[in-house]
Order: sequence, then structure tokens, then C-alpha cells
Amino acid sequence: REKTLAMVKPDGVLGNYTDEIKRVILESGFNIFKEKISQLDEEQTATFYAEHYSKSFFSSLIKYMTRSESSGEAMEDSVVSVDEKGGGGKGGLVSIGPVLVMVLEKENAVADWRALIGPTDARKAKNTHPHSIRAMCGLDSEKNCVHGSDSLQSAQREISFFFNEMSSG
Ligand code: ATP
Repeated sequence: REKTLAMVKPDGVLGNYTDEIKRVILESGFNIFKEKISQLDEEQTATFYAEHYSKSFFSSLIKYMTRSESSGEAMEDSVVSVDEKGGGGKGGLVSIGPVLVMVLEKENAVADWRALIGPTDARKAKNTHPHSIRAMCGLDSEKNCVHGSDSLQSAQREISFFFNEMSSG
């Protein structure tokens, strides 16, 4: 069956949305084939989002993905390690960006996961796709809580990015 890469971004992990998101995933008929908590550094994030290198929001995107900003409060220097599955949460201030990456499996997984997460801009999602995941836990066009591969080709690249090349666990 078709596979796609799903990611709960730092705002979703630290906002404690992972359990709810997984519940929606399973209820929507996906199998969670693989999953792990990962922490992206700036270089890895830049590689992952290489297609956006020339965009005005690129540097902001790198910060968002690598440094969690908890509900607009000032950053602290403390570093929290998030090694174990289901770690993170509690919304504390940390200087790392934990993400939960999952390989989802289902017929038509790529398109169906994109439909389930809703539009890039979470504000728009709240208006036009109120039942989407981004409407549930996203904030705006940057802090939109989740990621989904946009094509079969991207899905293959992104799955091997997290589960082959970077395989440390
Ligand atoms: P993703 O690739 O994360 O699933 P997407 O395909 O819906 O999201 P893209 O256009 O590929 O959206 O942008 C990648 C990510 O860059 C977005 O998810 C968001 O976090 C950030 N981003 C996109 N557009 C903007 C913007 N106009 N301003 C700030 N950040 C943005």
C-alpha cells in the first residue's frame, strides 16, 4: 500500500497534540507503519525544506522547526532531551525542536493525508476546513503543526531522509 511521511512539528509536539493527531490518523484508516521522535538541527531542516531556500520565510521556517517558541514567550537557554517516544509535551520552554515523524500507510496515503491536514495557512484551515488537523492545532501559515509529503516522489525522499540516512533509532 502507498506510504507517506507525516510529521508533527515542534508546536504540535510541545502543545501536546500528538495523541489526538494519532487518534485522528487511525480513525481515518491509516496504519502507522513506523514512527519516531527526532530533533532537527538547522542543517537537516534546510536540507528537508531545500525547495524553499529562496523564499522570504526560509530563515523563519528554520527557526520555527529547530527552536520551539512556546506561546510567544521569551526563549530560555535550557535544553531538554527528548529521546523516548512520546516525550516532549507540557509546553515548557526549550531550545530544541522535537518532531514526531511517522510513515503512514494506506491506499492513496499521500493525497488523503494532505486532505486530512488541510491548507498550509492554519487560519484559513479554521475557516474552510474546520475538521482538518491544522484547524485543530495550527496557528498561522508558518506554525501549522503538521507536515505531509506533497507527492509520491517527495514521500520516498522524506521517508528515507528520516528512516534511512538519519537512522539513529
Ligand atoms: P509542509 O510542506 O510542511 O507540509 P505545505 O506543503 O502545506 O507544508 P509549503 O508551501 O511546502 O507548505 O511550505 C512549507 C512550510 O513552510 C509550511 O508548512 C510552513 O511551516 C512554512 N510556510 C509556508 N508558507 C509560509 C509563509 N507564507 N510564511 C511563513 N511560513 C510559511
